[in-house]
Amino acid sequence: MSTDPLSAVLEQIRTFIREEALPLESDFLHRPFRELLPRLHEKRDRVKALGLWSPHLPIELGGQGFTLPNFARISETLGYSPLGHFLFNCQAPDVGNMEILMEFGTPEQKETWLEPLTRGEVRSCFSMTEPDFAGSNPAWMETRARKDGGDYVIDGRKWFTSAADGAAFAIVMAITNPEAESPYARASQIIVPTNTPGFHRVRNTPIMGESGEDYASHSEIIYKDCRVPQKNLLGQEGKGFEIAQLRLGPGRIHHCMRWIGICERAFDMMCQRAATRLLAPGKPLGSRQIVQEWIADSRAEINASRLLVLQAAEKIEHEGSRAAREEISIIKFYVANVLQRVLDRAIQTHGALGITDDLVLSYWYRHERAARIYDGPDEVHKSVVARIHLKKHGLSVSI
Ligand SMILES: Cc1cc2nc3c(=O)[nH]c(=O)nc-3n(C[C@H](O)[C@H](O)[C@H](O)COP(=O)(O)OP(=O)(O)OC[C@H]3O[C@@H](n4cnc5c(N)ncnc54)[C@H](O)[C@@H]3O)c2cc1C
Repeated sequence: MSTDPLSAVLEQIRTFIREEALPLESDFLHRPFRELLPRLHEKRDRVKALGLWSPHLPIELGGQGFTLPNFARISETLGYSPLGHFLFNCQAPDVGNMEILMEFGTPEQKETWLEPLTRGEVRSCFSMTEPDFAGSNPAWMETRARKDGGDYVIDGRKWFTSAADGAAFAIVMAITNPEAESPYARASQIIVPTNTPGFHRVRNTPIMGESGEDYASHSEIIYKDCRVPQKNLLGQEGKGFEIAQLRLGPGRIHHCMRWIGICERAFDMMCQRAATRLLAPGKPLGSRQIVQEWIADSRAEINASRLLVLQAAEKIEHEGSRAAREEISIIKFYVANVLQRVLDRAIQTHGALGITDDLVLSYWYRHERAARIYDGPDEVHKSVVARIHLKKHGLSVSI
């Protein structure tokens, strides 16, 4: 019997994913998300009834009160299906928005924006990246929020605001303090209801052959004379970048563990196919040494990834995101690349079947290529790690 206190919960979640989420996947892959929503809401109600809802949230907000390292392991289990996180109300970008609203929201903001999110009644989005500026330099942007009377008036253009289609509100990064000496002290985060006049969702940017809508959207948005009360400022003025960094620390743990869940699914599918696909009578694919190498390499890389991420999660939990900067950057590029390799090997093992939309592998192959780009591209994170070590040897390199 396991002595791991989390093992019973993980087993319960694993069973739920197997019995309740996997049967919905075919419709998820082939039908519009909106059509599936009523059934997803039924499943979400079941998750609530089982006492598993919002595992990342504290108990007083209707969650399960798990620590970050424990939530990380749950996130892996949910990642086995592309529906897992949504069914348990811990999907990006809502999960990150809940975290910053908990930390920086005023009592009124919590009541108006956080609580409906925690109950799963609304969705939200995070609007920072701009098409005309390098998103990998988050301090560089054009969108402005100027004060007028008791309001902020926002003007600018954003894109890749994920899940904006159907969201109730956006948390928008905008320059409020252009005069600040440090570029990191110029932007603020402002809550903007998506029905505010001047919030124009121009389009859902198509990605990898998919139009992308509803929760799967990555929207381009124009903010034009978009007026919201100053009480919608989240945290202090000029602290937008700092808040974004705090959001991204745990966020990278969530993503990386979700990717490990995807790897485990791809790994299971790869082994299953290698064991059963015959190249000739009595000659299964898995009898070939090169396929065995794909399996062994994948196993080692997934195990190593998990240890790295759990180590980073422990450090964030006990010392904070700032102290875990190196560990966070290491997992972000390392696990994103393991994910690409494991998915690629699983597809190769399946041959032509691997690239059909009959399997979830091709969905992940399209969607998760982005893992090496969002929340900081590989190159930025590698540079962070290298700079930390070069500095110890007397070389200071600027970004
Ligand atoms: C699927 C997806 C979802 C997203 N969701 C959101 C969201 O919800 N909200 C939001 O605000 N943004 C979101 N983004 C945007 C994301 O944060 C940016 O794409 C990312 O920060 C990179 O910015 P960029 O695309 O402008 O690339 P650029 O900054 O133009 O960089 C282009 C390339 O240059 C290279 N590069 C960059 N910096 C360096 C460096 N220092 N050294 C060497 N090479 C470098 C990298 O290879 C990088 O891919 C999302 C992106 C994707 C793909």
